[in-house]
Amino acid sequence: SGFVDLRNIRLTYGGGPDGTLALDGLDMTIRKGEFAAVVGPSGCGKSTLMKLATGLMRPQSGTVEVAGKEVNGPVSIAGMAFQNPSMLPWRTTLQNVMLPLEIVQPHRRKLSKERAAYLQKAEDLLSLVGLKGFGEKFPWQLSGGMQQRANLCRALIHDPALLMLDEPFGALDAFTREELWQVMRDLHAEKGFTTILVTHDLREAVYLADRVFVMSARPGRVILEKQITFPRPRP
Ligand code: ADP
Ligand code: ADP
Repeated sequence: SGFVDLRNIRLTYGGGPDGTLALDGLDMTIRKGEFAAVVGPSGCGKSTLMKLATGLMRPQSGTVEVAGKEVNGPVSIAGMAFQNPSMLPWRTTLQNVMLPLEIVQPHRRKLSKERAAYLQKAEDLLSLVGLKGFGEKFPWQLSGGMQQRANLCRALIHDPALLMLDEPFGALDAFTREELWQVMRDLHAEKGFTTILVTHDLREAVYLADRVFVMSARPGRVILEKQITFPRPRP
């Protein structure tokens, strides 16, 4: 068994005869530390899959396990990043990266020592993605690519064991997207978290992932699973 295990999943949106059978007979196993990519046509259930693996939804049948435990509520070891970075405009980039830490414990001010450690961590992450010195800028002063770099830092501030990426590079121009692929590869190599990337871009999947899952629509299920062998293709 793997780090993320989805077994014989069936999930319908809405009840009765008008319900949409989003996933049926879906099986997926992702090993610890692996970088998995999921590709498939729009509506095949990629976003639904992300919600299942992070515990935001539960299937009608089948089992979801993360880190050896059956998922029955939000998975606290998961970090998430989406296509739209949605940074708070009135906060600096550094403050945006640190936001998840405040949401977890809104009732108490961090001890200054603890806060200093988090600040250091946020600054280290910004350096890792090439944003050293940009922490004091506001998000709207950054380019789209820079905002998405900061967004990745925010997803990683908790040191998640599982990183979920839903089309994070989809809104970027081709050049910036390929720069971010490299950033993502470096982050994964440095931190070693398990990653599930949902993307429409097969080239992106093959460049980034150790294993690619291809899904079909109606009903959504995995129809092909492919290990990517080295040497990796260049983008
Ligand atoms: P993407 O293909 O980029 O994942 P979609 O446009 O398919 O995005 O869906 C975005 C979100 O909108 C989904 O995660 C889902 O929660 C919601 N959604 C999709 N289809 C429907 C629908 N038929 N009815 C209600 N909500 C939907
Ligand atoms: P993808 O991310 O691959 O585009 P989704 O997971 O968003 O696919 O959706 C899978 C299927 O479930 C689609 O047919 C979509 O229209 C449907 N769906 C998604 N969310 C909802 C929802 N909240 N209500 C009804 N149908 C939905």
